Amino acid sequence: MIGLISATAAGAAARDRLAAAWPDRTRVYDGPVGDAVRRAFAECEQLVCFLATGAVVRLIAPLLSDKASDPGVVCVDEAGRFAVSLVGGHGGGANELAVQVGESLGAEPVVTTATDAVGIPGLDTLGLPVEGDVAGVTRALLDGEPVALDAEAAWPLPPLPFTARDRAPGARVVRLTDRAVEPGDGEVLLRPPSLVVGVGASRGVPVDEVLDLVEGALRDAGLSPRSLAELATVDAKRDEPGIVEAAARLAVPLVTYPAEELTKVEVPNPSDAPLAAVGTPSVAEASALAGGGELLVPKRKSARADGHASMATCAVVRRPARGRLAVVGLGPGARDLLTPRATAELRRAAVLVGLDQYVDQIRDLLRPGTRILESGLGAEEERARTAVEEARRGQAVALIGSGDAGVYAMASPALAEASDDIDVVGVPGVTAALAAGAILGAPLGHDHVSISLSDLHTPWEVIERRVRAAAEADLVVTFYNPRSRGRDWQLPKALSILAEHREPATPVGVVRNASRPDGTSRLSTLAGLDPAWVDMMTVVTVGNTATRAVAGRMVTPRGYRWQEAAAEEVR
Ligand code: SAH
Repeated sequence: MIGLISATAAGAAARDRLAAAWPDRTRVYDGPVGDAVRRAFAECEQLVCFLATGAVVRLIAPLLSDKASDPGVVCVDEAGRFAVSLVGGHGGGANELAVQVGESLGAEPVVTTATDAVGIPGLDTLGLPVEGDVAGVTRALLDGEPVALDAEAAWPLPPLPFTARDRAPGARVVRLTDRAVEPGDGEVLLRPPSLVVGVGASRGVPVDEVLDLVEGALRDAGLSPRSLAELATVDAKRDEPGIVEAAARLAVPLVTYPAEELTKVEVPNPSDAPLAAVGTPSVAEASALAGGGELLVPKRKSARADGHASMATCAVVRRPARGRLAVVGLGPGARDLLTPRATAELRRAAVLVGLDQYVDQIRDLLRPGTRILESGLGAEEERARTAVEEARRGQAVALIGSGDAGVYAMASPALAEASDDIDVVGVPGVTAALAAGAILGAPLGHDHVSISLSDLHTPWEVIERRVRAAAEADLVVTFYNPRSRGRDWQLPKALSILAEHREPATPVGVVRNASRPDGTSRLSTLAGLDPAWVDMMTVVTVGNTATRAVAGRMVTPRGYRWQEAAAEEVR
C-alpha cells in the first residue's frame, strides 16, 4: 500500500489526483502531518508526501532503521513539479515510484541514487522497435543490477551501462536481433532496421500476393518483420499499386533503383523475363542487394492458390550496420556556449574521440558507459582514423573539437578518411573568431577572413600570399594559431604586411581564452600591439580601413554608405 500525506490545499489536490489514479494501491492519511507520516510509515510499503523534503526528512529521521526494510519515500513539491525519491530508492522501490508518480502528475522524477541511474536512455526511446520485459530490465539498469548486452548485429546504440559481459543464467539481457525469436524472462529485444526485401512483380499484382510473399519469406527464414527497414524494387515499378500498398501496410518506405543500376548488381538467379519487361535480369535480388549486404533469402516466387501464374518475386538481404559519426564543435569554452544539439550528440555517442583537454571540458555530460578514446596534442591523424574506424564498426561515435570542429580542426581529416558506408552528422560550434568578436564589439561587421599562422602543415609562402591578398582586399582578418614559443616571428611579419595597406591606428583586438574563466581582451592598434600579449590561446583580429574604436569597442561599419542608405529606406 502507498500512503499519501499532504499539508496544503495544493498538496491535497495533487494527492487526490494520485488517489483517484491508483484507487487500489493508495490510502490517504489525514490529520496532523507528523502523525499521518508516522502512521503511514508503520503501515505502508511506500509513502508519497506532498511536503517539502526538509519537513519529511525531520519527520522520518527517528523512524529509519534499515534500507532493506524501510518503506520507500517520495516527496512531491507544492507546485507538483518534482517527484523526489527521498529514501529507499532501490529496496523500497522509491526510484521507480518517483518515475510513476511523475508520469501520473506530470512531475519530473528526481532520482539521486546510483550514479549509474543518471542519464540512462530509456530502452523504449532508442528509436528501435522493442519487445519484452522493458519495465523489469529498465528497473535493473536503474538499480545498477547486472544486465548483459547480446548484440547479434552491430548497431549504433547510445551508451548503456551494461555491467555483465556474459549471459549468466537468470541474468537480465538486452538482445539486439533481427531474428524472429520471442523475448525470454527478463529479456528485452531491440529490433535493428537491418532487413531489406527486394520485390519484383507483374503489372496488376494484388497487394495480398505481395504481402503473403514477403511475410512468408521472412517467416521461413526465421526473421522478424519488425526489423524490416524497406522494400526495394526497380524504378519502373515505383507506382505499381500492389507494391506501393504492401510497403504502406508494412509501414516501411519503398526504395526504387534505375534498371541500369540493377543490371550491374551481381545476383545468383538472373532471368530473362524481367530483362524483357523492365531492362534488368534481376529485380528482387538486385534491388535488395543494391545497398550492399548479405543475401539471406534468394529469389522466391509467390504461390497462387487458384493455380494462376505467380505474379511476384522477393529476396531478403541483411544490411551491414551503418555507424554514425557526429562531428561536434564544443564552442570556445564556456558551458553555455555549448549548443543543446552538441550536448545531445555527446550523450548519443557510445564512443567519444578527442583531444584530452577537450574531453575534460565535457566529461561530466557523458552518459555512463561511454567509451572515451582520448589522445594528446599532435595525434590528429590518428584521432580522425580512430573515429572513422569505430563508426565503420557500426558504433555511434562523437569526434569533438573546440570552437567549430570544422574550423582548423578534426572534421576535414576525418571526412577525408570516411567512406559512404557511415552516416555523418555535423554540429556547428561557436568558433574563436566569433567568440572574440562578440567580446571586442562588432569587428566582423563587413567582409572578413580567418588565417591560421601555423606553418606546421602549410608552407609560410602560402600563408604570406593569403595575408597579402587579405591586406589588398581590405578584409578584416582574424589570426588563429597566431604565436607559440617556437613560432614567434610570423605574427609581426603578418601584421607588417597588413600595415602596408592600413593606418598605424587601425584597431586590433587581442582576445585570450575567450569565454573561459581566465579570459582577457585588449583593444590596441596595428602600431601598438605587443606580440608578447599573444600566445596559442589567443586570436588576433585586425580591422579594415573603416574599422573604428568606439567607446572602447571595435566596430567595423557595414559599409561606407550604410548609414545613408538605411536613412533613405526609413524616409
Ligand atoms: N576549431 C577551433 C580552432 C582550432 S585552432 C575553433 O573553431 O575555434 C586553435 C586556435 O584557435 C588557437 O591557437 C587560438 O588561436 C584559437 N582559439 C580557440 N579557442 C579560443 C578561445 N577560447 N579564445 C581565443 N582563441 C581561441
